[in-house]
Amino acid sequence: MEEKDIKQYSPMIQQYLLMKQDYEDTLLLYRVGDFYELFFEDAQIVSKELDLVLTGKSAGVEERIPMCGVPFHAVQGYIQKLAQRGYKIAIADQLSDPAASVGLVERDVIRVITPGTLIDEMSDDKQNVFLASIEDSGIGYSIAFVEVSSGDNYVIDVYHQSQELVETLLKNHVKEVVVAHGFSKEVIKLIQLAGIVISYCDVTEIDKRYEPLLKNLTKQYQLDAYGRMLAYLENTQKHLLSHLQICTIETKTQYLAMDYASQLNLELTTAINRDTNSKTLWSFMDVCKSSMGSRRLKKWIEKPLVDQSKILMRLDRVQYLLDHIVEKDQIRDCLFEIYDLQRILTRIAMNHGTPVDCYRLQKTLCQVPRIFGLLEDPIFEEYTNIPTLSELSEKLAKAIVENPVAVTFDGGYIKDGYDTKLDEYRQIQANAKTFIGEYEAQEKNRTGIKTLKIGYNRVFGYYIEISKGALSQVQDDWGYVRKQTLTNSERFVSDALKEKEELILHAQSRAIELEKQILDQLLEEIQQQLPQLQTIAYVLSEIDCLCAFAKLSETYGYVRPTFTNDTLKIVQGKHPILDAMMKNPRFVANDIEMDEKRMILLITGPNMGGKSTYMRQTAMIVIMAQMGCFVPAKSCALPIFDQIFTRIGASDDILKGQSTFMVEMSQANLALQYATEHSLILFDEIGRGTSTYDGMALAQAMIEYIATCVKAKTLFSTHYHELTGVCQQIDTVKNVSVMVKEDENQITFLYKIKEGSADRSYGIHVAKLAGIPNSVLDRSMQIQKELESTKKVVQQNFQLVEMVKEDPVLENLKQQLLMLNLDDVSPRNALDILYELKGMIKDKHENG
Ligand code: ADP
Repeated sequence: MEEKDIKQYSPMIQQYLLMKQDYEDTLLLYRVGDFYELFFEDAQIVSKELDLVLTGKSAGVEERIPMCGVPFHAVQGYIQKLAQRGYKIAIADQLSDPAASVGLVERDVIRVITPGTLIDEMSDDKQNVFLASIEDSGIGYSIAFVEVSSGDNYVIDVYHQSQELVETLLKNHVKEVVVAHGFSKEVIKLIQLAGIVISYCDVTEIDKRYEPLLKNLTKQYQLDAYGRMLAYLENTQKHLLSHLQICTIETKTQYLAMDYASQLNLELTTAINRDTNSKTLWSFMDVCKSSMGSRRLKKWIEKPLVDQSKILMRLDRVQYLLDHIVEKDQIRDCLFEIYDLQRILTRIAMNHGTPVDCYRLQKTLCQVPRIFGLLEDPIFEEYTNIPTLSELSEKLAKAIVENPVAVTFDGGYIKDGYDTKLDEYRQIQANAKTFIGEYEAQEKNRTGIKTLKIGYNRVFGYYIEISKGALSQVQDDWGYVRKQTLTNSERFVSDALKEKEELILHAQSRAIELEKQILDQLLEEIQQQLPQLQTIAYVLSEIDCLCAFAKLSETYGYVRPTFTNDTLKIVQGKHPILDAMMKNPRFVANDIEMDEKRMILLITGPNMGGKSTYMRQTAMIVIMAQMGCFVPAKSCALPIFDQIFTRIGASDDILKGQSTFMVEMSQANLALQYATEHSLILFDEIGRGTSTYDGMALAQAMIEYIATCVKAKTLFSTHYHELTGVCQQIDTVKNVSVMVKEDENQITFLYKIKEGSADRSYGIHVAKLAGIPNSVLDRSMQIQKELESTKKVVQQNFQLVEMVKEDPVLENLKQQLLMLNLDDVSPRNALDILYELKGMIKDKHENG
């Protein structure tokens, strides 16, 4: 709106419009008295979104302007809903006291809440909300991630590939991305398609105060991504982010890597069908006692380890806890008592700390020595050596009352005996209150009016109330001054009463002020110890996870996995979730063995026979083992995998707008290109999305390619039992199948995996189980027989063809260099790119 247009409105709306200019892409919540009001288009949007009444306000122009509002005390709930629907919300508060202001109340935006920067507005305390900012280096993307609610932050570099970029954002729970205005519109569209909100910020300079956080960042574009993120955060939070932890660099090889689709397919932390309450591995394993533990567990599941010594360390600790069940249970009892320290610390760091936060912080801190005392073993020293901040804990225990109020307006949250001055004010108040009781008795006596009462209200303060019936007895020389007339009584004041009232009110306001000062001092002290407190939060969350692992092993009888160089051997492995859920009949355990001679297992057998379950359970056991957890099996030895790739039906619209078959092929492609001989590939019914021969041909070619070029351990299920012939040509491919019991055209699933292939397809049997009409079944059996008889013609004798592995890294490099516009690259960036290229080639060289 132009300035002259703004001028036509009333002064308050002018103030609103000027403010709105700086926050155009937000909904501006504008405090007026006890309400947050929205005007113009914002009001229309919010009234629709939140089902609020849209009213009008006269604002100095002819037509009333649209308006809607929410009461200030209920605003959190509304903000939460709006932020979850992808809106950004700016909060403008009154900065001067409306009662004391002459003319317009001063207002300003005190915070902007965006989908990626939620702190208190989260509906679910186990949810992760990340903000990311991207820097395009021309040859790759540097992405800075931050979880505002915990201060966790890191940088990941990815190839200059939009699909990988979007995947990385999704995998890291990014809800909002900050980019420069010049960032590729095409990539922005893809990011938005994935349901992520885009925000803009062009500032990348980093304020000196944040320098200590940067020591791991070496490249200019990492620093730029980080700087952009910081600038955006300061802009929205309007506060120094003193709770941010030192930024780390996360590399793709640091964890067991899984693409986003695989994470979804395996239902690790998100259920594919959100409507049903189907279990994810996370919801199953989450027997943690604290929300911090649950959130840490989620990270552990999504990022299992690859460093054997770290995995063994976790396993040793779980083993210890299993060997000390009594202590473990006591620790879990203590963990049940702790509060969400990470979020408490964030609130305190952002200056939103309350007496409740101090109280909960103290309650949490006082559990720490108990927990550490129960972990007296050298393997826990890394945890138990950290300072437990007992001084701070004791101080808070002395200062804050049990279960204090969340708001500071009325005081009452600092304990008696903590501060002598505060005690004095409270003494005065107490004495004066006793005085009032005594005064009432004395006046009753003196006047002989039995119904005489002393009361208090906010407008008149203390008063003497005399009922209508006794009014005639009031005498002038009592010194009562009439204040208020009610239907049944009159209210008076007296000098003595006024004098005491002064004392009480004065002492009360002084006390409230002093309590606030004491609180601020305590919060300041907590802020001073933020890094130590964050370490405590981190350690508690890890201990909670380890105890949860021990608890799971104890409940379900899991076994400690061991690690090998190449052989995978699981005896009586089970699907953790199905095994826990199925009681009668029980889940059928299965073995699996793979090594360089049994690299690919081709699993045949009827639909619903248990093929996909067998593959999933193998992946889950691998993931659990590399998380450092015991696993559902009788024994388990496995190599450490670098990546897991899956193509398992179900979740298909991740990259929207692609056909099911296209999705199937792009997921298969990821595996074929990026898997190594240390990877695990699960292909469930590859090629089903196209015609039979097409599908079979693709499936066979993929098996051959994996067997000869990729050499990853692969489970390949198929109902094309014609494919089983491949095994005769490639000796590293072995047939296994799911057993069924067959009598008189009836089949029963046994869910047992056996060596060798299924002798035929069972489609028609399964159709029968599903209740397809008999005439259809009969006819199809007839057709099947005819087809069988011509099969010899169709089935060719495939010759194994030598294939060459393409190198995705070099291929990528080539593409990126070709696309790079050298005229757009600054000298500094050019140097970075050279370093990057050299690094990539060196990596290649060293890793063969
Ligand atoms: P497929 O992939 O062969 O079509 P699934 O693996 O999807 O079959 O299994 C179908 C159903 O069979 C599962 O949902 C489960 O209820 C049951 N099932 C699978 N494996 C087992 C097992 N090992 N023990 C008991 N029931 C099983």
